[in-house]
Amino acid sequence: MTRRLSELLRVPPGAVDLRAIDPRGTPGLPRSAGKDPKTWARAQLPILGAELFAWQEKLFAQAKTGASRQRLLLLLQAMDCGGKDGTIKKVVGEFNPQGVHIVAFGKPTEEELAHDFLWRIERGLPGAGMIGVFNRSHYEDVLVVRVHNLVPPRTWRARYAKINRFERKLVADGCAVVKVMLHISPAEQKQRLLDRLDDPTKYWKYDSGDIDERALWPAYQDAYADALGKCDSDDAPWYVVPADRKWYRDWAVANLLLEKLRELSPAYPPADFDPDVERGRLVTQPEVNSG
Ligand code: AMP
Ligand code: MG
Repeated sequence: MTRRLSELLRVPPGAVDLRAIDPRGTPGLPRSAGKDPKTWARAQLPILGAELFAWQEKLFAQAKTGASRQRLLLLLQAMDCGGKDGTIKKVVGEFNPQGVHIVAFGKPTEEELAHDFLWRIERGLPGAGMIGVFNRSHYEDVLVVRVHNLVPPRTWRARYAKINRFERKLVADGCAVVKVMLHISPAEQKQRLLDRLDDPTKYWKYDSGDIDERALWPAYQDAYADALGKCDSDDAPWYVVPADRKWYRDWAVANLLLEKLRELSPAYPPADFDPDVERGRLVTQPEVNSG
């Protein structure tokens, strides 16, 4: 790959035009992917996964001594059927589950609504050493909330700056942030909804409200464009991942995480004991029997 995926998929500066980004595109796919890129990308995933897993263990280990606050948050946003769940299963599934903290943000509860919109977000943040995953996020408060006029415009308009301040603080506190919009086409969404209706094992995923939301596609795309444009920063960049092809989506998100982890470069902490002394204690200890 000549250019890093984090450059290729970063939201362009200035006003964002999502219509200019092809949901079936495969930016950055190397020539070596060959004539059957789907098979190639699917085969790459466990290879990328092994490196993700290795970095995660170091991240987890270095936090254990209390010496590091470093952690990584993957934030996923998408239209319905955009593939958030599939990405979590396929990509996040490569990590050690013990070090992963996944939070899904649905319609706010009474209690959550009684607080500032960032209240539930702060409570869901990953602890030191963890990989955090947000399935939806505080961006819903400038997306669905805006499209459905759930608060007055002056309220959601003020949120972009609040989000930027919040994320800047978060990154300064050691939490790296990778924000991904899974970008699908209306045609692909329709196909995925039809698939759900055709398969009794997928009925549980079907939400009849998705058809009404779908009718609001242009309003959602405008809201996304504003959110991505106003809340993209070098500290907490927004990436648009073409997501009509699931194999590209997974390959791309895995690479974005990998690039960030390589940049963070967590390292195993040194021993806070003398291994030789400990070995000596262990081998000279009287034999311990089971009772
Ligand atoms: P799902 O992810 O399919 O379980 O659906 C969760 C639903 O909660 C989606 O329709 C979201 O738009 C909605 N949701 C998430 N956050 C908010 C929010 N802050 N205000 C209103 N609705 C929300
Ligand atoms: Mg839904």
